[in-house]
Amino acid sequence: MDSEIGKGSEFKFTIPIRYVKGNALTQYDISTSNGKDLFDWKDYNILVVEDNVSNFEFLKAVLSKTKSNILWAETGPSAIEIFKENENIHLVLMDIQIPELDGYETTREILKINPDVPVIAQTAFAMSRDREKSLEAGCIDYISKPIKPLDLLNLMERYIPVVK
Ligand code: MN
Repeated sequence: MDSEIGKGSEFKFTIPIRYVKGNALTQYDISTSNGKDLFDWKDYNILVVEDNVSNFEFLKAVLSKTKSNILWAETGPSAIEIFKENENIHLVLMDIQIPELDGYETTREILKINPDVPVIAQTAFAMSRDREKSLEAGCIDYISKPIKPLDLLNLMERYIPVVK
């Protein structure tokens, strides 16, 4: 710090920051070296249950690379409603902390409608009982936030049913 009476003071400090080029997605290569997409889920319908808009935008950006159709619900009841209205939802990506009805109860209701649909929970806290409770609710698997694009897509591919 430099200070001069009558003139003012000059403060110098450093802040450690990390520059990230582009958006988070470009950090991950989700295509093969010849540019072919690794995941081709054209004609697949995926219901994303997520109440946080920026989280949803992120998931949408990741899933857009797969050419799948994305449906979005922000609350438990609207997820159930959308699931009832769309018979051919192939996979559900379920946020646990959502308004009105939590992800566990919403999963239970969805599985009453179609016991075969794979529901993958997005759990917020690695140390909590979220994972265990997700499986108890009937989720086929879980992924912890913050979600890495490739981890998510690899996990989803395990459960996306083979159709056609
Ligand atoms: Mn949430």
